[in-house]
Amino acid sequence: MSDEKNLPPKMRASAQKAPPKPQPRPQDPVEQEFWNRCQDGNLYFQRCGECGTFRHLPRYMCAKCGSPDFSWEQSSGKGTLFSWTVTHQALHPAFAADIPFVSAVVELEEGVRMATRLIDCDRDKLELDLPVTLDFELIGADFRLPVFRPDTNLPHEG
Ligand SMILES: [Zn+2]
Repeated sequence: MSDEKNLPPKMRASAQKAPPKPQPRPQDPVEQEFWNRCQDGNLYFQRCGECGTFRHLPRYMCAKCGSPDFSWEQSSGKGTLFSWTVTHQALHPAFAADIPFVSAVVELEEGVRMATRLIDCDRDKLELDLPVTLDFELIGADFRLPVFRPDTNLPHEG
């Protein structure tokens, strides 16, 4: 048996392990639907049934025309880097192993902007409007969190 129980609580191996990353905690059904739809490995945004405008964050009325009618449309997953910052401090112990990481706002082809993370990138070569493409990070056993990576399949790169 382990003598871990003889150690002070903070010195036990179980106390040294990083906790799991937190998952989104949706505040209402339309937000829950957004996260549920991510789980098939695609990204979906609401599109107004009246004027056709895409929107994000999930909400019940179109910000442009006020219509409550909408459908969920699959995103191309393609976009550009709208803004970013390099995060050097983990404000939650689950992210300590990831620092430094890139927190970003991506503008999708559909016209919506989304707060996310940029992965597999050279932090010194980031620039505004860098083409990015959708990927997913697995959180816990099976939760898919949308993230983005530089789109290296574009012909002008490399
Ligand atoms: Zn509308």
